[in-house]
Amino acid sequence: MFDPLEVRKDFPILERVVKGRKLVYFDNAASTQKPVQVINRIVEFYSKHYANVHRGLHTLSQEASEMYEKAHGTLAKFINAYSWEEVVFVNNTTDAMNLLAYSWGLENLREGDEVVTTVMDHHSTMLPWRKIAAMRGARVKYIDVTPEGYLDYGSLDEAITRRTKVVVFTMASNVLGTINNVKEIVKRAREVGAIVIGDGAQYVPHVPTNVRELGLDFMAFSGHKMLGPTGSGVLWGRRDLLEKLGTFKVGGDTIKDVTLDDIVWLDIPWRFEAGTPNIEANIGLAAAAEYLLRLGMENVREHEKRLVEYLLKRLEEEFPDEVVVYGPRRPGDKTGVVAFNVKGLHHHTVGMALDFFGIAVRTGLHCAHPLHYRLKMTYLDPPPDKIPDSADERLRNFGSVRASFYIYNTHEEIDYFIDVLRRVIELKE
Ligand code: PLP
Repeated sequence: MFDPLEVRKDFPILERVVKGRKLVYFDNAASTQKPVQVINRIVEFYSKHYANVHRGLHTLSQEASEMYEKAHGTLAKFINAYSWEEVVFVNNTTDAMNLLAYSWGLENLREGDEVVTTVMDHHSTMLPWRKIAAMRGARVKYIDVTPEGYLDYGSLDEAITRRTKVVVFTMASNVLGTINNVKEIVKRAREVGAIVIGDGAQYVPHVPTNVRELGLDFMAFSGHKMLGPTGSGVLWGRRDLLEKLGTFKVGGDTIKDVTLDDIVWLDIPWRFEAGTPNIEANIGLAAAAEYLLRLGMENVREHEKRLVEYLLKRLEEEFPDEVVVYGPRRPGDKTGVVAFNVKGLHHHTVGMALDFFGIAVRTGLHCAHPLHYRLKMTYLDPPPDKIPDSADERLRNFGSVRASFYIYNTHEEIDYFIDVLRRVIELKE
């Protein structure tokens, strides 16, 4: 097991003082901080090797191309893909989902087909598929969520039917932390011949990921949520499916040859990486993956499990009547994400008060509005019986405070957080 205090030394930003206090960064589900190893890799690339990739025969272009190609291999290793060609670099998970929806979805969905996603999915996964389904006359169905914050596996048979062509779902919830049963969903989708797409944005950075075992067809994740730069990310796909997949964005760097009548596309993964890619971001992402591999993803998972267990215990002991916690209580069932509300105190007020003490959390609906409405996640006590018809009213009253951990967070930070939260709650009274 690694020592988080040693890990912290690699993250210069953790020395920051915010509002006169040492920064406590609990907003890792939104984006993680970057270690010097990632920062230095980018500085080195810019200082010594920078050029465009794949275009020049000159030395710098060759060096840049080599680093960029090698980064595909590092990410393939990170998720145990069969080859580097299965790794397409994208800007983020949203980008990957749009790529799939606009290529696979637009080409293959027909009127009467069904796309299945879940009530807990992030808008970035849900909306590209809703859009393409609407364009093709396909129907979108949702796997429900239980009041405890698990997917309702009892409703799988009803949701996934012979009409289902695509099952696209979050592998771990960005709000509740729930780690979903990927293999169970894959099994059901396989029975009806649907393709299965995993949104790994909150899974790959936190849970050891082996795509050979999971059985998915495609999986997307964002580099910035796993110590990498913004603008880096991966769409992984099974080789045979990527070979058949039509392009989405087209242009330079996607083709071998063009005449006025003909286009010969490049091999995978290049034909999906249109235009000059985000070279330094994905080279930086490779440094992030190497860093996490050195720590060991089993250890990352264990560290987060301990933190989340401790936070849940402390919240329950200290504020049994004042705080509502959402989602699974068993640390083994969730990543290091805890969403909660202080009864009678608006989530933004709680977030602002925490910031006043140097604690960064996220407040709002976390791009998962349907989930908030389904579980009635609100500071109002008691929650209203009915979800309001007006979007403004919904947005005013629904939401949550989300604390989310990563490798550099500590039990001491949780103690400080609990002390501050107590003061915030006392302010209310
Ligand atoms: N899916 C999940 C589960 C997420 O948590 C996020 C980001 O919060 C996304 C997709 C979208 O990620 P990005 O904004 O990097 O595209």
